[in-house]
Amino acid sequence: MQEEWGDMLITAWNRADWINLPGRVGDRIGKLIGAPAGTVVMGDTLSVKVYQALAAALEISSERRIILSDSGNFPSDLYIAEGLIKSLDKGYELKLCEPEAIADSLNDEVAVLMLTEVDYKTGRLHSMQNLTAQAHDKGILTVWDLAHSAGALPVQVTDTDVDFAVGCSYKYLNAGPGGPAFIYVAPRLADQVRPALSGWLGHEAPFAFDLDYRPGPGIERMRIGTPPILQLTALEASLDIWDLADINDVRARSIELTDLFIGLVESSCPELKLVSPRDGEQRGSQVSFQFRHGYAAMRALIDRGVIGDFRAPDIMRFGITPLYINAEDIHRAVSIIEDVMLYRHWDKKEYFSRSAVT
Ligand SMILES: *Cc1c(COP(=O)(O)O)cnc(C)c1O
Repeated sequence: MQEEWGDMLITAWNRADWINLPGRVGDRIGKLIGAPAGTVVMGDTLSVKVYQALAAALEISSERRIILSDSGNFPSDLYIAEGLIKSLDKGYELKLCEPEAIADSLNDEVAVLMLTEVDYKTGRLHSMQNLTAQAHDKGILTVWDLAHSAGALPVQVTDTDVDFAVGCSYKYLNAGPGGPAFIYVAPRLADQVRPALSGWLGHEAPFAFDLDYRPGPGIERMRIGTPPILQLTALEASLDIWDLADINDVRARSIELTDLFIGLVESSCPELKLVSPRDGEQRGSQVSFQFRHGYAAMRALIDRGVIGDFRAPDIMRFGITPLYINAEDIHRAVSIIEDVMLYRHWDKKEYFSRSAVT
């Protein structure tokens, strides 16, 4: 902020190469999701990136008219699909199935399979590898949302041959609130897709100021407008940790810590019912418990320094990341949770009135 924005002002677009920051940071995230350099770019919010990926996939997916997703997907992804279907007005339809029924719901009417790898509520992990292969067998394109995967577990977008992947940077990548999203397009498609949101920075020659749009090469065309340089810089700094940490080690430790957390909570808090998969290999890096007064209980925990969140109607969600949480923290947190449950510290009027963000 001081050296670049403070001293160079707008000349930093060239002198500090701000103009290419979305691709530079994209390449670093690419390493975490198994994507080669030049296939990931940053910008906008995840909802916008879902729109771009889905619109591009639908346009290259022939005559089929079904978008298949599951009831565990994050609502924003489904809302974006609904909105896109309305504005395209070509008879597309969004079909939802249960998370367990995806493989059986793939057929030759489905154009695009759009899923989030880790369920935001329960942490249940889909097999990106198997579902992508099964979708491709039936001629279906895939759009994977990696919001709760990137930085939490190893992801291999190239090896699993996914078509489009998107994700945000403010969950396990620690960009901070409002950090920009990322989008990956498989290199075999990147020069073929037409960007639905064709902004000037995705143009082949933005500073030619031509009056007609020509898409830039490859992933560049998924850029839209001016990137958030301060947010990208914060994200770039947060990514330095990955020069020291290996995602496979982080994953192994995450499973250890989440197993420990589940065991301790279950033995000390009988009212909390586990809704995450018990098998660590089947979970992301979060653990969720069901409790009728989950909202009030989470408020009481936050007051005592255990910061999780609440997902309606009754889920208490705990994000557990080994980059800054260790076994001692888990023990301390569980003793606070036990105390809150045993002495019903949650049972206070002020904990029942809902804040705007839960
Ligand atoms: C967090 C999350 C989002 C949020 O999208 P924004 O546009 O960044 O607010 C979208 N999809 C999934 C699956 C998420 O987990």
